Amino acid sequence: MALQVTDALVLHTFDYLETSRIIRLVTRETGVQSVIARGARRSVKRFGAALDLFVSGTAEMQVRHGRELQQLTGFDVTNARGALSMDLDRFSSASMLCELALRCSAGEDRGDLYDALTGALDAVARQSGGAARVEGLAAAWRVIAALGFTPVLDRCASCHEVIEPSEAAMFSHGLGGATCRVCETQVRGGRRLPPEARDTLRGWLAGAEVVPPDAGSCRAHVRLLREFIQHHVSEGVELRAFGTWEAGFA
Ligand SMILES: [Zn+2]
Repeated sequence: MALQVTDALVLHTFDYLETSRIIRLVTRETGVQSVIARGARRSVKRFGAALDLFVSGTAEMQVRHGRELQQLTGFDVTNARGALSMDLDRFSSASMLCELALRCSAGEDRGDLYDALTGALDAVARQSGGAARVEGLAAAWRVIAALGFTPVLDRCASCHEVIEPSEAAMFSHGLGGATCRVCETQVRGGRRLPPEARDTLRGWLAGAEVVPPDAGSCRAHVRLLREFIQHHVSEGVELRAFGTWEAGFA
């Protein structure tokens, strides 16, 4: 067994037997991990508030290679993110983002996912109500990028021809992004994005300040996100928190 100390964020937690908890963490060093915190429900001294959703800090684990469940021996909280639980829209956005990481991470990760997700949750925590929900939409694209599925926006995803920023472009989930006029004739089941929608996506991916789209455009963006996730990231896995978050846009 080796002691591992790493930055980590709590994605999911549930009680186990009388006194313990099992926690899913995304770590900076080793991607998503399942850990057991023995005695966590009997004594709050060792783990404190560490076992709440969305907190991040320094995790100390006893790691045995090849084992699926590692042992958590300590957790120092550096950011509790209590604000995320005080607003329903914040909470549903944060839950959706954690679900994406939990269900869709392939496990090989070099800290990108940890950084994208902690940044995403902090951005959501700064908003409230509908703005927190839209922030979740923006942040979901950055989490998807960290999972390795950045959509192509400024060149044709098929022939790599530059697409002018002022042009509408067909977005193909299968090809992973926008397509030029020539290649779009081969696209089935894509969505035509007006230039503003591509601008918005570009801004969201960069983490830039973006003027929030109107309600109708937000719903179109949510559909695009859902289709993209279904095609590339979730591979048929049901995303319940995503459904709850999405329902808030109706
Ligand atoms: Zn093309």
